[in-house]
Amino acid sequence: MSDGRALAREFLEQQRLLGGDPVILTDGPTPGFTSGFTPGLRPGSVSHPAEPASHPVTHTPLTASPGKPKASSTKESSELPPPGLSYDPPGGDLFSADPLHQAASLDAVATLVAACTKCRLCEARRHTVPGEGPRDARLVVVGEGPGRVEDETGRPFVGPAGELLTKILAAIELRRDQVFICNVVKCRPPENRVPQYDEIAACVPYLFRQIDVLKPQVILAMGGTAAQTLLNTKQSLGALRNQLHRFRGVPVIVTYHPAALLRNPNWKKPTWDDVRIARRLLA
Ligand code: URA
Ligand code: SF4
Repeated sequence: MSDGRALAREFLEQQRLLGGDPVILTDGPTPGFTSGFTPGLRPGSVSHPAEPASHPVTHTPLTASPGKPKASSTKESSELPPPGLSYDPPGGDLFSADPLHQAASLDAVATLVAACTKCRLCEARRHTVPGEGPRDARLVVVGEGPGRVEDETGRPFVGPAGELLTKILAAIELRRDQVFICNVVKCRPPENRVPQYDEIAACVPYLFRQIDVLKPQVILAMGGTAAQTLLNTKQSLGALRNQLHRFRGVPVIVTYHPAALLRNPNWKKPTWDDVRIARRLLA
């Protein structure tokens, strides 16, 4: 896939996260498109051709045999998207050198995060918390956002929820230092509130880039924020558990957030079931 095409796809995924309607990349000219650029065309303002947009996120009931489902059937084309696409560029040029797209390593992403002021969460942070773990991690754990101790130390999941996470990982015979642990937002929301939609939209390109760099075998989405962000859905955690999802071809298992387990120990048993499934998916 050409760089331009990859950038366009990443951008369109972000637009979906921001609530935009599906945008369809056709191989040929856009139906009904005649000439020139259509100014002010907004998501949803074009009539969609019959062919459904393929989405990198797929969902498979866990009763299906694992390992089978194919990542994505997105049509590839070496061309840049044809004219007539229905998106509003968010200011700046998509095809110019976005440093995040140049970030080839986890350290490079962390360096960009450290300087980031793309959302209001930069204002009260003490440290950014980009995430940590080895480059060859097979499992990526995604939480919601840094808490107080994480903000003080710059490290993910080191407070009480983190201690429980370490135990959960031990139960499937993984040490913390074998796993990449991170969050959807990289700065602490005040009073540990749930990150807002625009904060998530601003921050999630870092997470997506980390996953692209790591190419893990499995992603464990802990809590509703991680699950809904990765799977681009508003479905509840309960509805998302017990299915094998995919993010850009990588299997995603959804389970409870460790902080929720501290409040409601009844969820520990189902969480253990979920992480065992994640473990089985690791080669
Ligand atoms: N909760 C999270 O979601 N992430 C952390 O890093 C710590 C607590
Ligand atoms: Fe940047 Fe993310 Fe921090 Fe917002 S939360 S300032 S987008 S790093």
